[in-house]
Order: sequence, then C-alpha cells, then structure tokens
Amino acid sequence: MNYLELSAAELKERLKADERSYDEYVKAGLKLDISRGKPSAEQLDLSNGLLNCFASLAGTSASVDFRNYGVLDGISEIKGLISELIGVAADELIVGGNSSLNMMYDTVQRALQFGVAGGVPWNEQGVVKFICPVPGYDRHFGICQTLGIDMIAVPMNNEGPDMDLVEELVARDESIKGIWCVPKYSNPTGVVYSDRTVDRLVSMKTAAKDFRIMWDNAYFLHAIYEDVPLKNILQAAKDAGNADRVYIFGSFSKVTFAGASLAFMAGSAKNMQATRTLMSAQTIGSDKMNQLAHYEFFKTPSAVIEHMKKHAAILRPRCDLLLSRFEEEWGDGAPVSWSKPKGGYFISFNAMKGTAKAICKLCKDAGLTLTPAGATYPLMLDDEDCNLRIAPSCTKMDELKTAADLFVTCVNIATAKQLLKNM
Ligand code: PLP
Repeated sequence: MNYLELSAAELKERLKADERSYDEYVKAGLKLDISRGKPSAEQLDLSNGLLNCFASLAGTSASVDFRNYGVLDGISEIKGLISELIGVAADELIVGGNSSLNMMYDTVQRALQFGVAGGVPWNEQGVVKFICPVPGYDRHFGICQTLGIDMIAVPMNNEGPDMDLVEELVARDESIKGIWCVPKYSNPTGVVYSDRTVDRLVSMKTAAKDFRIMWDNAYFLHAIYEDVPLKNILQAAKDAGNADRVYIFGSFSKVTFAGASLAFMAGSAKNMQATRTLMSAQTIGSDKMNQLAHYEFFKTPSAVIEHMKKHAAILRPRCDLLLSRFEEEWGDGAPVSWSKPKGGYFISFNAMKGTAKAICKLCKDAGLTLTPAGATYPLMLDDEDCNLRIAPSCTKMDELKTAADLFVTCVNIATAKQLLKNM
C-alpha cells in the first residue's frame, strides 16, 4: 500500500484500525527501550575472558610495573595495538581512562582555558562557536552547551556534513573554533565520511588560526554489514600542511565493556605533547592494569577485528528486523524515510514533518522509550520536528519485534493525523 496515495476516507479508516491496535499495546503494560546505544548483555559476554586476564596479570611480563604510579599516556603494549588499529604513531597517541567523551570534554575545556598549540585561550577571544553536523550526537551538543559554546547546525548529507556550507562558514567567522565529526557509521545517520569530505575538512581555509576538528571515531571498528573504508585524517591533515588541526578520539567502550574499557585520543606529536603537559597536572599515571588486561585479551589488531565480527553477528539480526519491518510498512511510498547503515549503533528515522514529538509521546504512553525528539539537534531544536534516533542493540529479539510493531503503529497514527490536518 502506498501511504501517499490514500484518500481522506481511507486514511481515517486506517487511523481507526491503528488506534485500536495502539489501545491493545497500552493495555499490555509494556516496558521497552530503544533509546540509547548500549551493548546488550550478550555482547558484553563476548569479553568475559577479559576478567580472566585481570586475574592472571601477576604472572605477565610487562614493559613496566603496571601496579605502580606512572606512564601518563599508556603502556607501550596497548599503544602499539591501538596505533596500528587507527594508523598513527605512538607519539601521536594518548591512552586515557574509560571514556572518550571525557577526553573530548577535557580537550575542549583545555582549549577554552589554555588555548591550542600555544595560542590565545578561546575564552579570551570572545564568543566561541562550533559547527555541529545534524542530525548528530546529543552528548557533543551537551559539551558545547555546558561550556558555553554556541552551536551552528549544518546538515549532513550522505558523504558527511554539507561541506560547501562548512567552508563558507569557517572562512568568514573567526569565532568558529571547531567542528564535531563522527566520521564512520555516524551517530545517528550511519554515514561514513567520503575521502573528499576528509580532504576538504583538513585543507579548507579557516578564519580562526586555532580551528580544530573533533574527530570522534567512536565506531571505527563497528561494521555490521560492510567495513566501509575511512581515510586516515591525520595523514590527510599532514599532507594538507595542517597536521595540528585534528584531534582524533575513540574507545573500546563497545568493543569490551562499556564504562570499563579504554579510551584514547590522537593527533600531531605537537598537539599530543601539549596535551600530556596539561594532563600531568591532572593525574600521576594511567590505568595500566586495564591497559595490560586489554592487551593480553587481544594482543593483535586482527584479534580485535575478529572480536568485532562477533558483535556484528549479534547486532545484524536486530538491524535486519527493524529495516525489513520499515520496508514492509513504508517501502511502497510514505512521507517517512530511514537510514540503512552499514555499521554503528543507530538507525536515523525521518518522520513526516511536525510529527516526531507526537510519535515519541505515543510510544512513551504505550511503554516504549525513544531518544527524545530533538535530541539529535543542538539545544533540542529540530525545526522540522522530524528526526528520531533508534538504537536496537540492547533489546532482546522478541521484544524488539514488539517495539518495531508499536513504533510503526505510532508513526502511522501521527502521520495519518498530520496528513488529514493538511487535507
Ligand atoms: N561518541 C559517540 C559518537 C557515541 O555514540 C558514544 C556513545 O554512544 C560515545 C562517543 C561515548 O564514548 P565513550 O564510551 O568512549 O565515552
């Protein structure tokens, strides 16, 4: 059935039927959640062997005494592994604690307070602005909001942010100091930045001499259907003569244990040395025990890649379920669209304009939690009220089927009401 070809009478009939099913969902007292991109228990179980690695660390010969203070930026074993995975040298890498988000926050905070690469602190230069590709990751927007940085929304297309607009903005406005990027299987669109986008980002002319790209490569290992290549941005930045423009971030949060894994940042040797100097006032050493256990668990980059294939095997049926349900419902034509990601954790759903909040409320009232409408935009301002982020990872398959059916019902109710209003 092509939704867009229904007459008013057919829409009303359809709406009545959907409302009847909706009432049944409400009566069922469901408690479902597809709001956050958390690994499921089944995925976490894949890394239980890491716990045994902790238990046997005492007998391990390590480059340093992992039990003591020291080694600010990570032991050589884990740095070697991560360097190879992300394609940077050891002096271009800092291994941090359990959260890359924490490292991003600290990086922005340091830039505000101390400046970057010996420059004037951003806070002493007046208004500070960041470009935020949308839809994007709500916690990036949270960092800006918390630290008083103005956000400029720039639309994403299927190669990354609209680069014509980005180039125009950064060329004329010196107060634009940065851009957030989730370059591979972007949260939530699933987009992988094209080589051309990477080249344009590193070579564009910026009015601010201290402009920075916040390259949050959170999903660099997270292929589900296809490992889409991403250009090495640090190398590209060096080639463009702008090596210091890039801060790369990532973690093993969705590789081993979310909340108890390893985070890292990377960039030019100069940027990383400046960061280490400031970090040395914050801590006497990194968590070498966790680093060594992770190293013992994986040892080689190829073991990490193999491990990620097991994650993909768990995530794939969940994505299949949602994508095929949407296709079945709206594949013939409807005023909605959705992303078909090759990896990552999310499906980005574009509902009919003006219906996303209503869909969220309908879902919530029937016991299904979605990420709030608007969350994928700075300050929750989705002017078109249409984008919704769906995270299928943490829900069991039978529950996900119910969640998908309920979501479809709520979308259809809100869409029919909106179409009837416009008729
Ligand atoms: N960056 C992106 C794009 C994410 O989606 C997430 C978590 O969902 C994070 C960072 C959080 O990373 P971490 O657990 O390393 O703090």
